Amino acid sequence: MTAATANATVAGPAHRAHRIRCEVDLAPNGRSAGHLRAPLSRNTSGWGVVMIPIIVVAAGSGPTVLLTAGVHGDEYEGQIALSEFARRLDPAMVRGRIIMLPALNLPAVEAATRLSPVDQRDLNRCFPGRRDGTFSEMLADFVTSVLLPLVDVSIDLHTAGHSMEAAPSTNMHLIDDAIRLERTLCLAEAFGAPFNVLFAGVDEGGTLTSAVEARGILSLGTELGGWGRVSIDGTRIARRGLLGALRHLGVLDPNARVFDRDPGEVIGPTRHMIVPSPECYHAAPADGVFEPAHLAGAEVCAGECAGWLHAVADFDRAALPVHYAASGVLWMAAGPGRVRRGDIVAVVMQPYTG
Ligand code: CA
Repeated sequence: MTAATANATVAGPAHRAHRIRCEVDLAPNGRSAGHLRAPLSRNTSGWGVVMIPIIVVAAGSGPTVLLTAGVHGDEYEGQIALSEFARRLDPAMVRGRIIMLPALNLPAVEAATRLSPVDQRDLNRCFPGRRDGTFSEMLADFVTSVLLPLVDVSIDLHTAGHSMEAAPSTNMHLIDDAIRLERTLCLAEAFGAPFNVLFAGVDEGGTLTSAVEARGILSLGTELGGWGRVSIDGTRIARRGLLGALRHLGVLDPNARVFDRDPGEVIGPTRHMIVPSPECYHAAPADGVFEPAHLAGAEVCAGECAGWLHAVADFDRAALPVHYAASGVLWMAAGPGRVRRGDIVAVVMQPYTG
């Protein structure tokens, strides 16, 4: 397909004007796979592009779902599940449209880092983005201005990266729109992670979720592992979750066998939880080596010791205890060892009662 035909398939000057060129037809009848060509001048090529894979599968009428992974490069479960899903998905399995970007932040994916090695930015803090901004801002703007106007539902697959491990969970914001809130809760139950976490207490700023919600469309995120490794459970939950959520939305044939291996059945109902306030985020009070007291998923109590900060180079300094400020279930637990003052070492979630 030529650039002219690719551009002609999507209405609006924003797409034609965008610095990132989309090779694929975003409104196909069938399967279309190719790349976003994002310009990046470098030593080996002044006119070089970063080629970000994009796969679109559509058939008949139904909602459009955007599936993303690799927004953070060091979060592998979603990249694994979505790249396999995108490779295997056939138009005969679909009613509606599924747009898939399994390695959205490709420079970070290839470097296995949270931040983009191109501009040292966190893509998930760059939304809604800027067309003429840094590489990450340009990429965020493409998603916001070209993809999101086509989309009814966004599912963005994450883990807790290198810095923490998360109890396997979906997540969403505590939004004001009661109908959309309920629909998102139902979508989370269909995804079927052990926990679904509502955010209410922290200013993330600039996330894909925020850009999605600004358009009034459904947004579901995940945290399916962490510590910079591949969680066996997390990849299974990602595979099951994609099937469950897409069947729930009516865009995937319930009998479609998409994955190479059967990811198994969902175990037990999803527990809806909330992180209600900034007090649930526990920051290291000093630099040091953090020894956690609990693994993610543990029941914890306010006042209980969350772990100890060791000043291993100072022989006369005792370890500094960090205490939980809230009771609940440990959603995210530190584990990388060395932390900086202000790094979050524990996040506590509490039951969401509506
Ligand atoms: Ca993440």
